[in-house]
Parts: sequence; C-alpha cells; structure tokens
Amino acid sequence: MADCLFCKIAGGEIPSNFIYEDESVVAFRDINPQAPQHILIVPKKHIDSVKDFQQDDKELAAHIFVDVVPKLAKDLQIDESGFRVVINTGEEGGQTVNHLHVHVLGGRSMQWPPG
Ligand code: AMP
Ligand code: ZN
Repeated sequence: MADCLFCKIAGGEIPSNFIYEDESVVAFRDINPQAPQHILIVPKKHIDSVKDFQQDDKELAAHIFVDVVPKLAKDLQIDESGFRVVINTGEEGGQTVNHLHVHVLGGRSMQWPPG
C-alpha cells in the first residue's frame, strides 16, 4: 500500500535491520521498545489488521504462529523464561500502524491486566 510505513519497511524502501526475513514476513526491533526484547513480525503483504485476514491468508497466519514466533522466541532466548505475543487492533485496541503486525515482548516480567 502506497503510504504505509510497514509496507515501506518490509519492501526495503525504508532501510531497517531485519532480525528475520523469509518469503512472506520480516521481523525487526520496535523503535520504542516496551521490554528488553520487543520484536515486530510484519507480513510483506499489506493486511490492515487481524480482522482483515482472508481465507487465503490461513497459511500466512499459521506460518507466523507455528514457525516464526517460536523461532524468534528461541533465537532471543526468551522461550524458556516466557514472553508475550500481542496484536493491537483498531482504535481502542491501541493500533497505531494500520498494517498487521505481531508484537513479541520478553526479557522482563509482564503485568496483567495490560494497560
Ligand atoms: P501498534 O501500536 O500495535 O500499532 O504498534 C506499532 C509499533 O510500531 C509501535 O510499538 C511503534 O513503536 C512501532 N514503530 C513505529 N515506527 C517504527 C519504525 N520505523 N521502526 C520500528 N518500529 C516502529
Ligand atoms: Zn502496509
């Protein structure tokens, strides 16, 4: 999508240090980290939010959760200590970038309920 920040990052138009990349997603460090480890997993394909997943995105959704989240957690050495996976959605959900992204946060104890 033309004016989308995460399309530009995922497409390489805005330089970024990917800690992971494959054919369908990139992952990079959040610019304003909320934990010692704070990674964003971003599909290369533009999808506005989790409620905009389509039937033919099932493989992508599964890939993110079955392959990428566990791999990154292991690589970041937060798989044993624990971590949090967050998808903010819409205005009240706290979504500020309207290109679907999965936050992976770890390296500290998380509180509940979230703010
Ligand atoms: P959300 O509020 O769930 O939409 O998350 C958007 C996240 O993107 C926030 O945590 C921001 O800190 C992060 N962010 C915004 N711009 C950048 C950027 N250029 N590089 C890395 N992370 C960014
Ligand atoms: Zn986008």
